[in-house]
Amino acid sequence: MIANYHTHTKWCRHAKGEAEDYIKEAIGLGLKEIAITDHVPHIDNSDPGRMMWEEFEAFNQKLDEAIEKYQDQITIYKGFECEYYPEALDFYKKCINNYGYEIMILGQHRCGKDRYYNAFSNMDETALKIYADTVCEGLKSGLFSFLAHPDVFLFSYPQWDKHAENALRQIYQTCEELKIPVEINGFGYYAGRPYPSTDALKISKEYQLTYMINTDAHRPELLYTEKTKELEQLIKDMGIEVLDYLPKERHITKAIR
Ligand SMILES: [Zn+2]
Ligand SMILES: [Zn+2]
Repeated sequence: MIANYHTHTKWCRHAKGEAEDYIKEAIGLGLKEIAITDHVPHIDNSDPGRMMWEEFEAFNQKLDEAIEKYQDQITIYKGFECEYYPEALDFYKKCINNYGYEIMILGQHRCGKDRYYNAFSNMDETALKIYADTVCEGLKSGLFSFLAHPDVFLFSYPQWDKHAENALRQIYQTCEELKIPVEINGFGYYAGRPYPSTDALKISKEYQLTYMINTDAHRPELLYTEKTKELEQLIKDMGIEVLDYLPKERHITKAIR
């Protein structure tokens, strides 16, 4: 791994370390690029485990200071991991256009009316269809650089079956059409979660996809571990090639729509 584009900070309340700690770790590891992409805040503060809406300016200032301090040693990008919530898009656009956030990750954890379904708690067949539709709509918005953990719903969905397969096929098809890279999630692998799923990866190979491995680090020392190397090898053994760097055309530098 030479670059990592999915990195959290303590501001989201379920990770440790400031942006600076991850940047220093990345420099020590010899990485060439890092994106700090914590979970985006929402005006209603209703998703648990997120920075507060009111904290954004302070977070952003601290991030800018860290970038200023280390920019000669490593390329650092600002970004966010985002849910596709239509009511939140204006803020995402503001982050892109006014604050220089350019690695915008679509990481859908919740979906449905009042965000009822949660990948970590209650996914069922009905939820899977809503999840896939929501992700695909998000991908089509043009606001996102790549798709994080498409198979995250397997955390709470009881088994690998044709519904899971259909949801992922719909998503992979859209990623293929829009040429949006698909993440293979290192945090799920590190934590022994049901994602990244080899069943999912096998069917994904039927599509013309680009992939990236990101560690989705929630602690600085997890930025690149032996487990990541194990995952890299496993993916290689499956005959899947991963991008070293996120292509420049996937950086979202201007949000027009
Ligand atoms: Zn997180
Ligand atoms: Zn994440």
